[in-house]
Amino acid sequence: DANAPVRVRFAPSPTGNLHVGGARTALFNYLFARSKRGKFVLRIEDTDLERSTRESEEAVLRDLAWLGLDWDEGPGIGGDYGPYRQSERNSMYKQYAEKLLESGQVYRCFCSSEELEKMKEIAELKKLPPVYSGKWATATDEEVQEELAKGTPYTYRFRVPQEGSLKINDLIRGEVSWKLDTLGDFVIMRSNGQPVYNFCVTVDDATMAISHVIRAEEHLPNTLRQALIYKALGFPMPSFAHVSLILAPDRSKLSKRHGATSVGQFRDMGYLPQAMVNYLALLGWGDGTENEFFTIDQLVEKFSIGRVNKSGAVFDSTKLRWMNGQH
Ligand code: GLU
Repeated sequence: DANAPVRVRFAPSPTGNLHVGGARTALFNYLFARSKRGKFVLRIEDTDLERSTRESEEAVLRDLAWLGLDWDEGPGIGGDYGPYRQSERNSMYKQYAEKLLESGQVYRCFCSSEELEKMKEIAELKKLPPVYSGKWATATDEEVQEELAKGTPYTYRFRVPQEGSLKINDLIRGEVSWKLDTLGDFVIMRSNGQPVYNFCVTVDDATMAISHVIRAEEHLPNTLRQALIYKALGFPMPSFAHVSLILAPDRSKLSKRHGATSVGQFRDMGYLPQAMVNYLALLGWGDGTENEFFTIDQLVEKFSIGRVNKSGAVFDSTKLRWMNGQH
């Protein structure tokens, strides 16, 4: 919906420090929101309870604050609101899962993990895609009631159209389309009642009225499932922009062996936040001139998602120039 107010989000998983890739995603979202007089929402994706820690969340908040990337709303009162947290929104996810069950876009699947394993093996032998082909997609109401009476555990499975394709117009990558016949009905709620990640993200983005989903390219495979859930829920689809990977100077995937990669490390080394912001902005974006120095206000003024590069951006920390105030 092109007329919807601009609302974007940064949605880190609190499983470690804020890395340059995440910081760039946050910055692009922030710049986009500010340049469009929209809202920038922060959402902590802590559904993975084993890997998420409060410590990581605090580190991410501290690093965002250091960079000057403030968010606009959240639970709480007055100006003192925290970020949204997925772990605090479980009952809402369940409500939407029930809605989809009622409308038949989701069904209960009573297959045990052994049965599912078997199906997978058979599909492999027959060289078929590993899509769910169990009976619960077409089970009768009596069959379902029988299992419920026995107390058999079940998951909620999303009914994927068996043919056709789905297409999005990515603001960076252009048209992206997927065939639906190899996806298979996927689980949106586990048998312990825990909604799965893709479902939480979609319900959040939809109910938070996110207009533009700007995130890393690695999430593109999730977009297909999320778009299908969007449609099923009947919410208007947001625009998507998938930002390319950050590469090391040798063009391999940036990792710890390339030296400092987290925002906190650069802060501890004495880099200034405005240098970091300036450098992050230029990772895959430019205003079309030779200019390499921008204040945050200039970035807000000049930023445009259409100028974000489709190809990977090279992170070379030796090019990060303003250290301890020296140019
Ligand atoms: N929580 C995901 C991450 O940390 C982001 C998902 C998204 O932006 O949709 O990579």
